[in-house]
Amino acid sequence: AIPLVVAISTAVSAGKGLLIRNRTAFENARKVTAMVFDKTGTLTEGKFGVSRYESLMEGLDDDELLGSAAALEQQSEHPIAQGIVKAAKEKKVPLKKTEKFEALTAKGIQGRIGNENWKVVSPGYLKEKNVAYPENAKSDEAETIVFVFREDELAGFIALSDKIREESPQAVQTLKENGIKLYMATGDNEKTAKAVSENLGLDGYYSEVLPHQKVEIIEQLQGEGHFVAMTGDGVNDAPALAKADVGIAVGSGTDVAAETADIILVNSNPRDIVSLLLFGRATYKKMI
Ligand code: ADP
Ligand code: MG
Repeated sequence: AIPLVVAISTAVSAGKGLLIRNRTAFENARKVTAMVFDKTGTLTEGKFGVSRYESLMEGLDDDELLGSAAALEQQSEHPIAQGIVKAAKEKKVPLKKTEKFEALTAKGIQGRIGNENWKVVSPGYLKEKNVAYPENAKSDEAETIVFVFREDELAGFIALSDKIREESPQAVQTLKENGIKLYMATGDNEKTAKAVSENLGLDGYYSEVLPHQKVEIIEQLQGEGHFVAMTGDGVNDAPALAKADVGIAVGSGTDVAAETADIILVNSNPRDIVSLLLFGRATYKKMI
């Protein structure tokens, strides 16, 4: 028989935008002492707008750069991809035919346009290839910057920005008042991660994080004695979601994340995380 209190919790959770895949993890949500958020789509809206873009390659104009990136990004489900495709459509830039599309996990994407190889990649990829960070791509804004490569040569960059979700400040405050330590782990750059973390008053953040590093972050917190919950949306988040004591997949994410997670956050709303972590406490308190 299902304990009454758990049955009630599950019923309530359905109305709270939570889908429970693992009942034990759901019951354990009340024990969470540290929460690791991914940034995009949970703390932020996950709706990127392109703020500027520039070709750095002779003979390639700015719109052609955007159009090539968008042509490839049509096949990606990353929130950055949706922003780039939208911008190209708004600018009425024609999208070329692409072939051999491939996702480069936590780095970007690549594919062929005509007989050329094109990539849209993270700042981390520049470092990895020892390509100098272009001056024009630097700014004081908390932007998400991606770089376009054409035949392994830097062709230009695209800057995007996202907004903090309107529900995030209240959700963060309530969780903090309940003694839960709050962290953010993101593949995005240091400046953007810092801006979001400081704006929301988180206890800490990790930027330019690779999938295996997300796992290490969870392990480190567990090693410090924390009972850890984590949110994630991508294929790259799956190992860390599995490692977390309570793995939460955000609803807008990929199936792989959802299949690994204990709980699915249907509306990607941080307010529903508050319900999950605190409702459990209130309910279980009544039992004791
Ligand atoms: P997050 O979910 O925190 O944004 P990801 O691991 O999904 O992190 O991505 C890490 C970084 O890789 C992104 O910030 C971006 O720079 C790059 N990236 C991933 N997917 C794409 C894509 N489809 N197009 C361009 N860049 C991408
Ligand atoms: Mg992601």
